[in-house]
Amino acid sequence: MFRYICLILILAGQMHAQEKIAVIGAGLSGLTAAYRLQQKGCDVEVYEARNRVGGRVFTVNVGGHLAELGGQNILDGGDAPHMVALMQELGLEEVTKQVSQELYFDFEGNFFSFRKLLLEYNFTPESLNEKLQPILQTAQNMRDVVAGLFEEESVLFRACCTILAGYEGGAVDKLSVCSTETLKHLLLGGLSSTHPYSESGIEHMMIKGGNALLAESLADKLTVHLNSPLQALRRDSDGTYRLLFADGKETSADIVILTIPSPTFSTISFDASVIPPERREQIETLLFGNTEKIVIERPMANTQKGGVFANDRMVTFDNRDHHLINLYYLGDHDSFTAETIGNVFSRELPFLEKAYGYTDLTQPVVASEIPFSSYDCPVGHSWVNDPYARGSYSYIPADQEESFLSTIDIGDETVKALFAPIGNTLFFAGEHTSTSIEIMGTMEAAVETGDKAARMVLNP
Ligand SMILES: Cc1cc2nc3c(=O)[nH]c(=O)nc-3n(C[C@H](O)[C@H](O)[C@H](O)COP(=O)(O)OP(=O)(O)OC[C@H]3O[C@@H](n4cnc5c(N)ncnc54)[C@H](O)[C@@H]3O)c2cc1C
Repeated sequence: MFRYICLILILAGQMHAQEKIAVIGAGLSGLTAAYRLQQKGCDVEVYEARNRVGGRVFTVNVGGHLAELGGQNILDGGDAPHMVALMQELGLEEVTKQVSQELYFDFEGNFFSFRKLLLEYNFTPESLNEKLQPILQTAQNMRDVVAGLFEEESVLFRACCTILAGYEGGAVDKLSVCSTETLKHLLLGGLSSTHPYSESGIEHMMIKGGNALLAESLADKLTVHLNSPLQALRRDSDGTYRLLFADGKETSADIVILTIPSPTFSTISFDASVIPPERREQIETLLFGNTEKIVIERPMANTQKGGVFANDRMVTFDNRDHHLINLYYLGDHDSFTAETIGNVFSRELPFLEKAYGYTDLTQPVVASEIPFSSYDCPVGHSWVNDPYARGSYSYIPADQEESFLSTIDIGDETVKALFAPIGNTLFFAGEHTSTSIEIMGTMEAAVETGDKAARMVLNP
């Protein structure tokens, strides 16, 4: 019996060993999928639009300190079992630290303590549920939910809107009421379901040496074609895929795994036989959030470690350690380019001076697309204006819950219906394809969906 099972496994492996698999995108999801398939003996190659791997994980160096311009805290994905397992397999170490959750909101020129303002309400899980129940019967989006709890334009209303938009990615009027869970944790002293209230603050976990090391370690083991933006995906009459790239190169594959962010689907021409137009149109409507970072050094004189400062346009908090601060721009106001980053930054100087005591700040630059490059001035990356991301990360849109969240079971796997495999030869991965509301939008979701796509290719 055992020999019979082994024979089946070997034959399954051989079947895929003969097929050519193309993975589009060398972010964490694409690299994970390719790595898992290669481990099983598959013939797999990765095609990446940029001249670097890692996608929305992008580590640089500011003033001698590592800085994450994209994915930062691994524990945003809960215990992040897929991510942690992969790091361990590759011999990468983690670093952790506790970050204070004390939030101060700038309201008409004064900072208010979020915690102190909430004391008046004395929320408990039960009292909050009771208050939220009637609100949720009519609320269309998270703005309605927050407005049901606090007077519009009050400090708490504005602070909740800012933090929700910062954490979930999208502005509150675009966020589904599914984000009520995050709001509840916020009002009970935590941040989200993956960071519930804890006296010691929020735990951050990062990769020692920079999160981009995970992508680089995976890429070292794989064949990755950089500078290869996919432009068109066609299908020949024998079922073979034809991949056409922006530089005019072409290749073919039997199986394709698409790991590109949903807002970038519209930049690629898909044959109707590859993705039915109706499905493609639905995928294209799933826009990502518009958070983006500028990282600055903490002033030497500032002794207050940790803590979070916010106004209506941004939230500031520690980057990898207290030497560097994230200016986390959110909403629709402030996406920047290399030309406008100085203006966007200068607008917040009075706020930064008041919060951290800066006296003079050098003008920021937009990071070059070289991982681990060093800067001695503030540095930022606009994910909204990044042609290969077109936004920061996925969120559940207010009017698209059903199309975005419906799932179907295929064999032992559960997948989002929108991202179900097509014809057992076209597969999807990427954080936006995760079926878990808690981890969607995170590095853990990217690795988890990469693992899942590989399993589905191997077990058709
Ligand atoms: C500002 C910011 C902060 C974040 N903070 C956190 C955090 O603290 N914790 C956390 O867990 N997560 C965080 N995230 C989210 C996390 O970084 C992402 O969820 C994760 O990295 C996504 O991986 P992915 O493989 O799904 O997508 P991506 O990393 O976007 O990979 C997709 C790849 O496809 C490539 N591509 C696009 N178009 C084409 C094309 N036409 N042809 C070929 N290749 C193409 C892209 O260049 C990219 O490399 C943050 C993200 C941002 C932007």
